[in-house]
Amino acid sequence: MDKVNDAFTLMCSHCGRRYDLNSKVWRCECGRPLDVILDVRATEFRGLGDVRAWDFTMWRYMKLLPIASSDNIVTLGEGWTPVMVRKLYGVELILKLDYLNPTGSFKDRGASCLISHLVEIGVDSIIEDSSGNAGAAIAAYASVAGIKCRVFVPASAPEGKKLQIRSYGAELVEVSGDLARVSEEALKESEKAYYASHMWNPFFIEGIKTIAYECVEQMQGSVPDVALAPVGSGGLLLGIYKGYKELVELGLIDSIPRMIAIQAQGYTPVYDYMYGSHGSSPPEVILADGIAVPRPPRLEQIVKAIKETKGDVVVIDNAEIIRAFKELAKLGFFVEPTSATALAALWKGLELRLIEKGESALLPLTGIGLKAIDKLTQISDVIFR
Ligand SMILES: [Zn+2]
Repeated sequence: MDKVNDAFTLMCSHCGRRYDLNSKVWRCECGRPLDVILDVRATEFRGLGDVRAWDFTMWRYMKLLPIASSDNIVTLGEGWTPVMVRKLYGVELILKLDYLNPTGSFKDRGASCLISHLVEIGVDSIIEDSSGNAGAAIAAYASVAGIKCRVFVPASAPEGKKLQIRSYGAELVEVSGDLARVSEEALKESEKAYYASHMWNPFFIEGIKTIAYECVEQMQGSVPDVALAPVGSGGLLLGIYKGYKELVELGLIDSIPRMIAIQAQGYTPVYDYMYGSHGSSPPEVILADGIAVPRPPRLEQIVKAIKETKGDVVVIDNAEIIRAFKELAKLGFFVEPTSATALAALWKGLELRLIEKGESALLPLTGIGLKAIDKLTQISDVIFR
């Protein structure tokens, strides 16, 4: 059954301006990112017994997602990914296998919600800028929805990711320079087509928040002590935080995990904001290409979520990534280097006492290793020595 969308508001948390949920804005007039706000008093959702139990995708939580008509859902079966619990390194590790999503990364959740929204408001042509995974996800869902799609990527993005984007039929635009440069180029074109940026668009985060819903349902209502999230544009961290926060507001759980942001050497805006310049420069081979974002538009929101949950930020270098990548592969999880930062951060968190022995930690495994085959081949000497 379709629903009325009264429970959702599109608003700017910075200046408080409100927009119609169906207006084609992608950021606030004041220049800040917008948020979709769920009014828990207005929602028809009545608890975890009220999910679409027959639907083994993230759309089982449709009542908590800002899409009015189920006819507009664009799905490839994303979400409802397995949770594996392992007692390792003195903690209870809750591995969320989000690399098993249709395009091989957690970004499918965001893309499914964003593209469904674009179908709902009648957009037929979009542009996106991405280091790779979000571009692939948006290209795939746009193709399914019949939306024309151009994806701007750094020329240095992994070949596998670029090929995947083109395979879905999107037009690939390679830009030399980092992701900030790529965004500038994409923005210049945003007059001609809707800017479906996963970094700016709040409907993307709405999809990501289902990770938290699923973890709560799959773990019979228990909430981990900490959640680790690799942070590039911050969609993963903000999505997980928002999902738990909404369930607290709905009275279904009592707490939000301490959010630990993970940044990679050379790309440390969250760390810099909280502690002053980290001072590291990008390595010659950027292994954590998925989080190499110099200026995330939602930086202040990310820091706020960390502080509110008494979390923190850690910075991981290439050597730590390789160690964690090998360990995860030994455990049977073949993930891309950006994903491996999560285990490296868990180790570092234990070392720095940000995480205590005996605690539980949510570790989302965000992207499949096959995405980064060319990069992994490039450093295979180091991996296997
Ligand atoms: Zn504003």
